[in-house]
Amino acid sequence: MLGWTFPRMNHFQGIFFDFDGVLLDTEPDHCACWAEVLRARGVELTWEYYRDHCIGIDDRDMLRVLARMADPPKEFDELWALYPEKKRLFQQRMTAPPFEAELKAMLPALAGEYRLAVVSSSASVEIEPLLLAGGIRAHFATIVGGENVKRHKPAPEPYLLAAERLGVARALVIEDSQAGIASGRAAGFEVLAVRHPREVPGALRARLERG
Ligand SMILES: [Mg+2]
Repeated sequence: MLGWTFPRMNHFQGIFFDFDGVLLDTEPDHCACWAEVLRARGVELTWEYYRDHCIGIDDRDMLRVLARMADPPKEFDELWALYPEKKRLFQQRMTAPPFEAELKAMLPALAGEYRLAVVSSSASVEIEPLLLAGGIRAHFATIVGGENVKRHKPAPEPYLLAAERLGVARALVIEDSQAGIASGRAAGFEVLAVRHPREVPGALRARLERG
């Protein structure tokens, strides 16, 4: 969709993107890295199990359950000791973060018309390298990370800070989680709710073209 243009009928000045689950779905990669380091210790982790039981919970809680379920059972400490290795593996894989090609193609046109921001509860130091590696950092005028606010989503502060930094009064927020949706609305912005990054290009285009 290179060279995509759209009628400028809507009233938005900015488009604010959540990161995890909107710009990038990192869960399959987190799971694959954990599965790889755990397999070497004889512990099996499948995507189905991870998807249904591990997303959104702390890694340590996940490992406590996996240690108990292992045959024979393992000590939690033995599995938690694998964390640095898992983290290294994840960072290696994320040298080519899988951003949606269609969204990457839309970003130059969007950035020409709107002020774009990434607004996340993750730290900027975790997000910015991925945006750089994906070649899309320059399209975003600012990144609001978890370290920039006192009150996280679902509080409105992250989105209000993005608006203040960019001088934007009317923004469209794109979110995938209940907390994020609540945060965007509490900040007084319209929220476009999506379930996965692959829905973003189509949903965003439809919303902007509707005026
Ligand atoms: Mg999210």
